[in-house]
Amino acid sequence: HANPTRRYQSLRHFDESPQLPSGYASMIVLAYLTPLWFRQIDPLVAAHYDGDVSKANLHPRKREKLIARWQDADLDTGHPDPYPDAHQTPAPPARSGAGQYRCTDCGYLYDEAAGCPDEGFPPGTAWADIPEDWACPDCAVREKPDFEPI
Ligand SMILES: [Zn+2]
Repeated sequence: HANPTRRYQSLRHFDESPQLPSGYASMIVLAYLTPLWFRQIDPLVAAHYDGDVSKANLHPRKREKLIARWQDADLDTGHPDPYPDAHQTPAPPARSGAGQYRCTDCGYLYDEAAGCPDEGFPPGTAWADIPEDWACPDCAVREKPDFEPI
């Protein structure tokens, strides 16, 4: 859906992309039994967004409740985390000069050393010089602020 003009044969698979837990036939049954669908899918959505479900497309009336429900949840069990501070990992120190940034949607890698000549960024173009509204050249779904340094 991100690339509607890409031919079926050239679609790529990414292990890190969201996957249905079962085949279409099983998922149709689950979708018909809506509470079971949400019980099965909500933890997967929360895990996909590392607990920040505000990044997901939420029903406006349920948005605040869902965000509150998942922000302190244990992503392995789906239960609210009784010890939210016990296993917080400190943010990794900022590494200067790594120069590689990955699209969180498709995995496309921007390497400052290589640039992206097709997009008009010659080799050596610093990440800081990429416009904020630049969209991922592979998936066109994510923009620069969505990329993660690696
Ligand atoms: Zn992408």
